[in-house]
Amino acid sequence: MANIIKTKAIVLKTTPFKESSLITSLLTDKLGKIKVLAKGIRRPKSKLCGTLEPFSLDEIIFYKREFKEMYTLSDASVLDSFEHIRSQPVRVHAAMVLCEFFDKTLPAEEPDDESFSFLVRFLKKLHAIDEAEVKSLVFSYLLRALSGAGVRPHIENCVRCHTPIRFHEKKFDFSINAGGIVCNKHYDDTVIFISDETVDTLKKIYDQKDININNNSLKEMENLIPAYLYYHLNSLVLNSLKHLK
Ligand SMILES: [Zn+2]
Repeated sequence: MANIIKTKAIVLKTTPFKESSLITSLLTDKLGKIKVLAKGIRRPKSKLCGTLEPFSLDEIIFYKREFKEMYTLSDASVLDSFEHIRSQPVRVHAAMVLCEFFDKTLPAEEPDDESFSFLVRFLKKLHAIDEAEVKSLVFSYLLRALSGAGVRPHIENCVRCHTPIRFHEKKFDFSINAGGIVCNKHYDDTVIFISDETVDTLKKIYDQKDININNNSLKEMENLIPAYLYYHLNSLVLNSLKHLK
């Protein structure tokens, strides 16, 4: 028996397929991450023209039989194309960072409405904020997404022995391998220094506070985040992060 599935979906990634089709990776609110083939969508007269653009929020319809590597799209309509994001390269790169993160880290077809609504919230904010706050928003959401992936950095005390770290220090030792700040005894050769400001900023981010991260902390996070993702998420590299200037 085939089920007709109608679901909301955010387009994480698109890859041209044959002459006129598109393979899309989608994060849906009902089925988690799925792959869908949109046949003929790149023909100018296709009824699907304008749908399934990167990071747009669409409503899609497809037939689901048993679990398949890829489903075939029946219909799609755009719910929100986030035009304002699309109008500025810096916002486009920012949107792609979170889309690439979910595309590369989420398992296929495991219902995950939390990641879906998290990504929708991110895109709505990215659509609305000032350009100067874009990078801060991306880093905040990317760091929060690490909680969902089960690899949130440990910043409360030493990640190895839970000894409290003195907070009058100006610099903290953050061990990439250990996944958090470490005491003197647990220093290792993957330690990078981060300032007390950055530790404080990380705490606020995980307390779900909206903050504008200062330039110094942004620089420190630029070093920390790629190394952290690579070590804790199966050698993950986010190409779109490199474009976010
Ligand atoms: Zn320790």
